[in-house]
Amino acid sequence: MARIRFENVNKKYSNGFHAVKDLNLDIQHKEFIVLLGPSGCGKSTTLNMIAGLEEVSDGALMFDDQMVNYMPPHKRDVAMVFQSYALYPHKTVFDNIAFGLHMRKQPKPEIERRVRDAARRLEIEHLLDRRPGQLSGGQRQRVALGRAMVRDPAVFLMDEPLSNLDAALRISMRAEIKQLHQAMQTTFVYVTHDQAEALTLADRIVVMRDGVVQQIGTPDDIYERPANTFVASFLGSPPINYIDGEIEVSGPAEALFRHREGMLRLPEETARKVAAAGRRSVRLGIRAEDVSELGEGSEGQVLHGTVNSVLPVGSDQYLGMQLGGDELFFRVGKDLRHRNGDNVSLTVDLNRLHLFDAETGASLV
Ligand code: ATP
Repeated sequence: MARIRFENVNKKYSNGFHAVKDLNLDIQHKEFIVLLGPSGCGKSTTLNMIAGLEEVSDGALMFDDQMVNYMPPHKRDVAMVFQSYALYPHKTVFDNIAFGLHMRKQPKPEIERRVRDAARRLEIEHLLDRRPGQLSGGQRQRVALGRAMVRDPAVFLMDEPLSNLDAALRISMRAEIKQLHQAMQTTFVYVTHDQAEALTLADRIVVMRDGVVQQIGTPDDIYERPANTFVASFLGSPPINYIDGEIEVSGPAEALFRHREGMLRLPEETARKVAAAGRRSVRLGIRAEDVSELGEGSEGQVLHGTVNSVLPVGSDQYLGMQLGGDELFFRVGKDLRHRNGDNVSLTVDLNRLHLFDAETGASLV
């Protein structure tokens, strides 16, 4: 079993920097947790506390029912895969994978069996006699994974393991890591700043900013119901669009969002919530994909603007639209033919709007 719990955990480095603030997180046995956030938000520090590479400054870190704040790394039954892979350049692939087992003085036939088994699963059996310098980035990555796998740890920790790979390989390795998780039936904690990686891999995502958890939830929760504008902006490509404006309530279940260039009619349920909350100044979020073309909607459902960029991206195109002082980016079908300067009307999927407090950025619905 490997359930990991952070209870009011703080990490302050010796120079006084407060890298992780009051972290509460309950990671279930066999769960795939992704720590997501921009550089410096405290993801690696959090992972390193699980590994025992960084001390917890205060609060409790629990593995099942045991407090492990002071447990040395080698007693923790965790295996870590680093961004740099940390392979020994003068050892063969076999010896790199076997290293942890040698350290634990496992019998030779057992080492041989485990290394070959991991190599077979990772499809690197034919590389066992090579040295890391004779491998591609993706192959090195597999060796690093193999070294963690053979230890059969209760917890797998990964710190940006794919960031040194090219885009295509990153996508195929994502799928492999997901399969590995299913096959190994252990707890995975994975650090990345890549939102697409987080969305495809995670059972639950923990979004962090400046050492503070912003939201914990399934990929669907985080994408569809972001807790604040930071989370909303961090996920999605191109990023979510914002328009600032005012709510005009005209009945218990009727409200308009009025912006400088026009207005949008809020769906009933949203209107009821904003009417009850009594908000006026809000920031409206529209995801890039939540529009369709050519304003085939009723008044209150359409945005009218001017095209100021058209960027084909294979199956789709990104359309930049000037709406008053704001530049918005939408993803639309490639059949839509527009040129810079054209007037354009886009129909908004009103049921997929996001509303945030204009001052705090917190979600209102
Ligand atoms: P990245 O994606 O860049 O690795 P991260 O989210 O993993 O970022 P951390 O490595 O956890 O961030 O670092 C969090 C903050 O703590 C950063 O501002 C970093 O500069 C600071 N920090 C990290 N290690 C130390 C240290 N040993 N002493 C002081 N500050 C540190």
